[in-house]
Amino acid sequence: MLNKHKKRDDWFLDDYTINPYQGCEFNCVYCYIHGSKYGERIGTRFAVKENALTVLSRQLKNRARRGEYGIIAISSSTEPYMPVEKELKLTRGILKTVLRYRFPVEIITKSSLVLRDLDVLEEIDKVAILPEDLQGKLRHGAIISFSLSTLDEEIARIFEPGAPSPVERLRVMKKCKDNNFFVGLNFIPVLPFLSDEREQLEEMIKTAKDVGADYVFVGVLTLFGTGKELYYKVLEKHFPELVPKYKKLFRAFSYPPREYQAKLEATIKEICKKYGMKIGIV
Ligand code: SF4
Repeated sequence: MLNKHKKRDDWFLDDYTINPYQGCEFNCVYCYIHGSKYGERIGTRFAVKENALTVLSRQLKNRARRGEYGIIAISSSTEPYMPVEKELKLTRGILKTVLRYRFPVEIITKSSLVLRDLDVLEEIDKVAILPEDLQGKLRHGAIISFSLSTLDEEIARIFEPGAPSPVERLRVMKKCKDNNFFVGLNFIPVLPFLSDEREQLEEMIKTAKDVGADYVFVGVLTLFGTGKELYYKVLEKHFPELVPKYKKLFRAFSYPPREYQAKLEATIKEICKKYGMKIGIV
């Protein structure tokens, strides 16, 4: 249940990850799981880790006894609050277990269902023990970050068919902020030629600021394996004129060339400076 990283993630600062489910009902076209062994079936076949809480409790107890506290990201390769969670309450059970052993958490979600668990998250926020080197830098034991790839409702419907709309995610994000949570916006992935124009980047950062985000992350699209084929199929159906542009951009690697990334990074830095928005958690 509990995956320990060899090294802390530079961006999300997590030392551990927990993925309550395998696969994801939201079925985003760009999801990197499409390129993995789960292929195209992530939205139609997913597995529930049934003995999760017993295993997790044992693992956290051992880590806590050794003082190995670190931020736990929930989740890195599934959505912790997909519709099935409403009934199964596995993520809620995980959070209660995490609370018992006082580990800090970082929720990464696109779902409104996170609101159900604000009571447990509030307790975690108060009592979690941060790793020593983060104690002077971070004042929260719970971080809630929302992922968006576009603000355009139509593009979101095409590329994130099972997920709540961007406007709904922003509403939930604001609600978390209103409840004094430490909240971030993951603008990941930025979609080439669909959400990467200067005005679109600026609108996203300005919106993050307006809803009270404490920080943003911005990341490029990666496409590989069957995930790349699926993405191109969707492009061909909805934006055929973009296919040659994508083929050029992704001709050599599974991610855009360094110049594209450098330009995006520079633009984001400039926009974040303009709006007084922090890039990264600390
Ligand atoms: S919500 Fe996240 S895990 Fe689920 S399909 Fe979308 S990108 Fe993948």
